[in-house]
Formats: sequence, structure tokens, C-alpha cells
Amino acid sequence: MDYLPVFLDLRERTVVVAGGGEIAERKIELLRAAGAHVRVIAPVLSAQLASLRERGHISHLAEEFAPRHLEGASLVLAATDNPRINASVHAAATARGLFVNVVDDARHCTFVMPAIIDRSPLLVAVGTAGNAPVLARHVRALLETVLPQRLGSLAALAGRWRERVRAALPALPARRRFWDEFLDGPLARQLLHGASEVVQVEQQLAAQLATAGAAGATRGEVWLIGAGPGDPDLLTLRAQQLLQQCDVVLYDRLVDSAILGRVRRDAERVFVGKEPGQHRVTQERIHALLLDYAGRGLRVARLKGGDPLIFGRGGEELAVLAAAGIPVTIVPGVTAALGAAAGAGIALTQRGLAQSVTFVTAMGEGAAALDWRSLAAPLQTVVFYMGVAQLPRIVERLIAHGAPAERAAALIERATLPDQRVVSGSLYDIDARARQAHISAPALLVVGDTVPGMLKAGSSGAAATGVHLSGE
Ligand code: SAH
Repeated sequence: MDYLPVFLDLRERTVVVAGGGEIAERKIELLRAAGAHVRVIAPVLSAQLASLRERGHISHLAEEFAPRHLEGASLVLAATDNPRINASVHAAATARGLFVNVVDDARHCTFVMPAIIDRSPLLVAVGTAGNAPVLARHVRALLETVLPQRLGSLAALAGRWRERVRAALPALPARRRFWDEFLDGPLARQLLHGASEVVQVEQQLAAQLATAGAAGATRGEVWLIGAGPGDPDLLTLRAQQLLQQCDVVLYDRLVDSAILGRVRRDAERVFVGKEPGQHRVTQERIHALLLDYAGRGLRVARLKGGDPLIFGRGGEELAVLAAAGIPVTIVPGVTAALGAAAGAGIALTQRGLAQSVTFVTAMGEGAAALDWRSLAAPLQTVVFYMGVAQLPRIVERLIAHGAPAERAAALIERATLPDQRVVSGSLYDIDARARQAHISAPALLVVGDTVPGMLKAGSSGAAATGVHLSGE
């Protein structure tokens, strides 16, 4: 971060503004709205500022700026149209250790004033560290349209009730849940949409608080959430909402750090990933952790790569939780096969080429028991999960059960992530190509004639879909 966003309490503090023209006017308006004492240093004042001075809203010294004018100041703004004066204001302020903003001169700012969306007491500040003020204004316009006008009333109401709720629900998880439910619930909506008066809402809130307090210990719950294949933009809206509400998140190895960035900041993060081959955290241990956290009344996000119910042992976790009577919500995710197909531009079904698609895992002893004859049959797409280490055996079995060696195949490594790679070929050479490109987990093998196996590196098709072909 180039700047740390903070909100300053400027009430009863002196802010020195050098400059008395139009540029200064806008800044002074904001400073006054925040309750600052504004001291304007300028030989002449604009008509608007002169009128503020007449009414005693600002103080004014009709002089050219001098360092002594900073006496007693908390913050400094240089808003003249004279670069020499602005530079001397900057120098004098920094010499005194004061934060200074030189309007429209990012290099000489030790603080910047963001674009703001004002729903006081709720404020949203948007900054670009001086890179693109116009972009900040665009973002502000965007946020203006999505943030309800009455958000401020909601924030004020929450402020009035803060102490009462704290007293009624001393345990933090219970309190957080109470607020989450209120903010997501009908009362807050009615207030935001103007459907109810604040007094009515507060009456009902009081009733809710009474029952929440009486219910005593809060019940924990588990949300079994699919994190999708990697790109955080492929999280579902519900996944994002719940990740913002959980108390603790138990996540797998396949959950990318960018996705963890979407989890509520103060949620506890527990890594329960299993390394391939060496199971660092056993499935039993994960079950025990889920039961323990939920048993303590927490809202537990169990975050799994892709979809939680596809090759993720989500079913086992579901059964354990159900047996313990813990409520579970399942949030589906984009499974790796769908992410890989989209990322590599491979149709999973296509008229005349693939009438069906099969998701299969070829790991472990189960592999021998698979119906290889049907997996080798034509007119379908077969997607193998967890297949990298098994690649030679998968290919061997498919061919042994009748698949032609020229059937197209592709490996997609780290699908949908910025470093996604695709290697394509045929059953005959896919293993050699994968080894040559050092493809490693996580990767998926897609077999079937919809795979654009004829794509060559640099061909327009590859460029158009952003597909990177190695091994040519
Ligand atoms: N529940 C997950 C699958 C878990 S099994 C889902 O629905 O996607 C783990 C396997 O998924 C990996 O070995 C790999 O084959 C595949 N996989 C997961 N994420 C992937 C990604 N971003 N790119 C390629 N394969 C991925």
C-alpha cells in the first residue's frame, strides 16, 4: 500500500489552508464538514470564502504564506495556484512533522484526500494514491448507486445499540451473529427501503435481543463451501457472503491465497490440507476439528477447492456433522473440470463428438475397479481428477480397453489461475508432452475428441483463448 487509509477526528483542531481561491473552497468545505477550525492564509479570498469569514466560519490571514502560520496546526493543505508557494508550504509542514497535501501534486502529498461516499456515520473513502483521481471518481459513482441512501441511519442505529447488545450478549461470537442476522434480515431491509420507521425497527430489535439473550449458548454451524478452481472471481456470491461472516475457516491445500483474501479478516484460519501421498492432517482430525469448533458455537466455513461434493470427501464430513446434529449449509462451487474446460476452451459435450461427460478419479486402489471399457468408448469426454502421477497407467488402460491412440487429450495445470498451463496432444503422446513440460498437481486430464488437439503453439485459436501450449 502506498498510503494507509485512516479517518481523522478533526473536531476542535486547526487545519491550515494556504490559498483562498476555488481549489481551496472545495477542500475547506470538507474540512468544515468534519468540524475542523480552518485557518486560511491568502492575500485575497474568493467571494465564497470571504462570506465564510464574515460569518466567522473560518479564520483568515491576508498574507503570503510563511512557516510561522503553521503554529498549532494539525494538518496542512497547499491549495494555491503558485507552485513556488505550494513547495514552501510542503517544506515548512514536513519540517515540522505535519502531514501535508498539495492539491493536484501527488509527489508532494504526505496525505491524500479520497473521493468519498458519505452516508454518515458510514463513510466510504476511495483513493488511487494519486495515480488516477478520475478513476476514483468513477468508483465512487459506482458505489453511490449500490449503497442505499439510508445506510447512515442503519449505522447510527447500530451505534445506539452497541452497548446494549454488548451487555445482553457478552460472548463475541453470539454478538457477531446477532448483528449479522439483523443486518441481513428483514428489519434492516425495512429500514433501508424506508418501509419502517426507525422507532418501529428499534422496538422489534429490542424483542429480538431479548430472545437472543434468553436462548443462551449459541448453536454452531458448518458451511461446506466450494471455493471453485482457483480464480477468486469464480466464487459464488453466497460463498463470498458466508466467508465474510464465518468465525473460523478450515481450508484445503487447493484453496488459493487470493481466495483466502476474501475471508473475513479476523476469522481464524486453519489449514487442513493433505499433501499428496503424505496425509498431514487426517480426515478423522478434520472431522474432530469441525465438531469442536461448531460445538463451541462458532460459524465454521469448511472451504474446499472446486465443488465440496466432488472428490472432496465432503460427503463424509456431511455425514459426521449430521450424526452430531450440527446444521450444515452446502454452497456449491465451480468444479475443477468446469474451470479447466472454460480456461482451456474445451467443450465438454458437443454434437457428434461427445454425447456425455464423465468426472472420474483414477487415484488409489479404486482405479483398477473402474469400468475402463466404458471410459475408453467413443463419443464422450472423460475428465480425470488427481491424475498426474497416474497418467501413464490411465493412458495404458484406456488404450488396452479399446481407445484409439490418436484420441485427443489435454492436461490443464492450475486451471483458471494466472499461471494456468495447457498441454494437448493425443493418448499416444500426452504423457511424454506432460513430462517434457513438467506438469504437476493440481492438474486435470481431459480425454475426448472435443479437445482441440490440433492446436499448435502460436496458432490463432490458442492465442484467442489465452491457452498456453507447451511441449511443441
Ligand atoms: N472438489 C474438487 C476436487 C478435489 S480433488 C473440485 O470439485 O474441483 C483434487 C483434484 O482436483 C486435483 O488433483 C486436480 O486433479 C483437480 N483440481 C483442482 N483444482 C484444480 C485446478 N485449478 N486446475 C486443475 N486441476 C485442479
